[in-house]
Amino acid sequence: MKPEIPYHLENYIGGNLIGPLSGNFIDNVNPATGMVVAQIPDSNTKDVNAAVAAAKKAFPLWSTTTVEERFRILNRIAEGIELNLEKLALAESDDNGKPVWLSRTVDIPRAAANFRFFATGIMHFASESHVMEDKAVNYTLRQPIGIVGCISPWNLPLYLFTWKIAPALAAGNCVLAKPSEVTPVTAYLLSKICMDAGLPPGVLNIIHGTGHSAGEHIVTHPDVKAISFTGSTRAGARIASLAAPKFKKLSLELGGKNPAIIFADCDWEKMLRDTIRSSFSNQGEICLCGSRILVEASIYEKFKAAFTERARQLKVGDPLAEDSKQGAIVSKMHFEKILRCIDTAKQEGGKILCGGHSVALEGRCANGYFIAPTVIEGLGPDCQTNQEEIFGPVVTLQSFHSEAEALQLANASSYGLAATIWTQDISRANRVAAQLESGIIWINCWLLRDLRTPFGGMKNSGVGREGGWEALRFFTEAKNVCVEL
Ligand code: NAD
Repeated sequence: MKPEIPYHLENYIGGNLIGPLSGNFIDNVNPATGMVVAQIPDSNTKDVNAAVAAAKKAFPLWSTTTVEERFRILNRIAEGIELNLEKLALAESDDNGKPVWLSRTVDIPRAAANFRFFATGIMHFASESHVMEDKAVNYTLRQPIGIVGCISPWNLPLYLFTWKIAPALAAGNCVLAKPSEVTPVTAYLLSKICMDAGLPPGVLNIIHGTGHSAGEHIVTHPDVKAISFTGSTRAGARIASLAAPKFKKLSLELGGKNPAIIFADCDWEKMLRDTIRSSFSNQGEICLCGSRILVEASIYEKFKAAFTERARQLKVGDPLAEDSKQGAIVSKMHFEKILRCIDTAKQEGGKILCGGHSVALEGRCANGYFIAPTVIEGLGPDCQTNQEEIFGPVVTLQSFHSEAEALQLANASSYGLAATIWTQDISRANRVAAQLESGIIWINCWLLRDLRTPFGGMKNSGVGREGGWEALRFFTEAKNVCVEL
C-alpha cells in the first residue's frame, strides 16, 4: 500500500482555497526521507488571472481600510502563526530538511515577528514635507501601489515569504504571492491562518507552482505593478528583463558569496563559535552565510585546526532529532549541485580539510540528501569555487597578510550581499566596513538582525533594500503635492 501524502495544497484566491484550474499537481519531496510530502498546484496563467481579478476587486476597500484596522488584522495573523508554531515548524522541517529546532526557534517566530513589526510600522509611517519659505508647502503622499507580486525562495520559506507580504499588506496593497515550489507547505498553512484572522478575500492571494509557469505570469501580468523578489541572481536577471520594459517597480534580493574577515586580534572564542554558525547554519543555505573565510596569516594554521575540528563535530542527522546540528539539503537537485561544486574545487586544486562527501543515514532518513560540513583550502580568489555561489555547507579558507590584502580578497567577487569582520581594533573594523562592497556588514557578530535596518545587497546581489521604512517606501507610490501659500 502506498503511504498517504500528508498535504494536498490548494491556491488561496479570493479568500477561498481552490485547486489549480489545469487540474495539474507537482510532487513535493521531503529531502530528509525522499518521500513525497505534498502535492502542489502546478498553476499557470489562468490561476494568476483569477488571483489578479480577486485582488482588483479587493483593492478599493483594502487600500482605504484604516491603518488601525490593518494593524489589528496583521497582528491576528501573527497570533495565528504563534498558535500554530509546532505544526508550522514541523511542516517547514519536513519540506526544507532543516532541523526542526531551527524552524521552531528561528523561522516561525520570525514569520510572526514580520507581521507584528509591519503592523506596528504602518501605524508610525509618515511622509515628508518640504517648505519653500513663504512661497509654498510640498507634502508627499505615500499611497498603496495597487496589486504587487511577492516571490520567495526555499531556504527560509515562511520567514522570507512573510518578510515581503507583511509590508505589502500593511501599506494597503493587494498581493499575489508565490512561495518556492520546493517548500510551499507553510505558505499554504498561512492561507488558512489569514482566513481565520479575518483578512478580507482577495487581499492576499497565494499561488503555488514553478517559477517558469506561475512566477513569470505574476511578473508579466499588466495589472501587477511591482515585484519584490528574493532568489537566485539568475532568476533575478530574468525577472528584471521581463519587468523593466513594463516599468514595474522592482526589489531584487539575490545571491551572495560573502566574506568573513578574521584578524589576529579577534575575540578568538566568540569568533570561532560564530564563524561555525555563519558557515553552516541551515546547512549553509542562508544567503548571509559566510562562504569565503579570510584569515590573517599569523593565525591561519591555528584557525584551520580549530575550525575544522569543530566543523567535524557538527552532527549531521535526522532533522526531527533535537541533537542534529545539520539537517538535509533541500532537494536532490541541489544536493547533486553541491557535490558537483566540491568536485570542481578538487579539480581546481583545492584540498578538502574536512567533509567533502555525502552522509548516509539509517532508518527513516536512509534515502535523504545529507552532506558533511566541508572546508576547503588552497584556492585563489579567481577560481570558480571562490566566485560562484554554492549555497550549501561548503566554505573555503584563504589567508592574508595585510588589511589591504584582506579588502582586496573580500571585494574580489561579483556579489556584494554581506560580510563579517572580526577584530578588536574598532577603528580598523570601521575603516574596513566602509571599504567593503557589501550591503550588510557585521562587526564581531553575525546575523544580529534589527528589522528596522536596510537589508539587501549591491553588485550581483540585488537592487533595492528591504526592512523598516525601506520596505514601506517600496510598497507605496510617492506623490508630491505642492500648495502655493
Ligand atoms: P530561485 O531563483 O530558483 O527561485 C526563487 C523563487 O523564484 C521561487 O519561488 C521560484 O519559483 C521563483 N522563480 C524562479 N524563476 C522565476 C522566473 N523566471 N520568474 C518568476 N519567478 C521565478 O532561487 P532558490 O533556489 O529558490 O533560492 C536560493 C537563492 O536565493 C540563492 O541564490 C540565495 O542566495 C538567494 N537568496 C537571497 C536572499 C537575499 O536576501 N538576498 C535570501 C535568501 C535566498
